[in-house]
Amino acid sequence: MHPALAPMLDRAAYIGGFDGVSGVLGAKLIGITPSGTMPHPLILIFGDQASAWKAFDEVIEPSVPRIALVDTLYDEKFESILAAETLRDRLSGVRLDTPGSRRGDFLDIVREVRWELDVRGFKHVKIYVSGGLDESSVRRLAEGPVDGFGVGTSVSNAPTIDFSMDIVEVEGRPLSKRGKFSGKKQAWRCERCHTWQVTLFDSEPPKCPSCGLETTPMLKKYIEKGKVVGELKPPKLIREYVLEQLKHYELE
Ligand SMILES: [Zn+2]
Repeated sequence: MHPALAPMLDRAAYIGGFDGVSGVLGAKLIGITPSGTMPHPLILIFGDQASAWKAFDEVIEPSVPRIALVDTLYDEKFESILAAETLRDRLSGVRLDTPGSRRGDFLDIVREVRWELDVRGFKHVKIYVSGGLDESSVRRLAEGPVDGFGVGTSVSNAPTIDFSMDIVEVEGRPLSKRGKFSGKKQAWRCERCHTWQVTLFDSEPPKCPSCGLETTPMLKKYIEKGKVVGELKPPKLIREYVLEQLKHYELE
């Protein structure tokens, strides 16, 4: 990935509903504080987990949650217990970043870690998972005691959605290439059931074919002759709008 794309990916991920991003520049552009946890090399450089977790706790500014990475050298269960016994009340959470080849049933491992932390009185310690996650594995793991997910690759390398921009009208005259519908269009949406319709631009608002409600035109002009003419909303407000709309759609 080209480094210049990273802030745009951060922004898109945030607008799409992610709670935070780890990229410093991306977070700055969005207007939020970047968030992240420790990497495996920290543990490897110290040579043992407890020294690395203690050093992180000593050095990193207090506002950063203490989330210990717990799958570097031993089993997730034993490293989680070790992390909780090392940092006690100061430990905010543990992160399991286990590669698929070592995972077995990840949901069972997460349930086991939750159980072992709970029986030792570490109910306050949250569980975060990461490593090769996508929308399917997140949905499955969300059935278990997972408090947060770290997702990278499936966002930065998301499948493409095929689309094209075509000339459909020239000087007010409908004209388009083969296979494309000519004439300037308007897209209408029913605000109750989110059924979409496309008509010619100057058509009367159609009624929703599903529920009969009036529909709303969805096209807005943002650029005219190279000048921005629409109101550009901050990422936080766009995100709220996206999350409100997502309630109408299924992940299929
Ligand atoms: Zn409707």
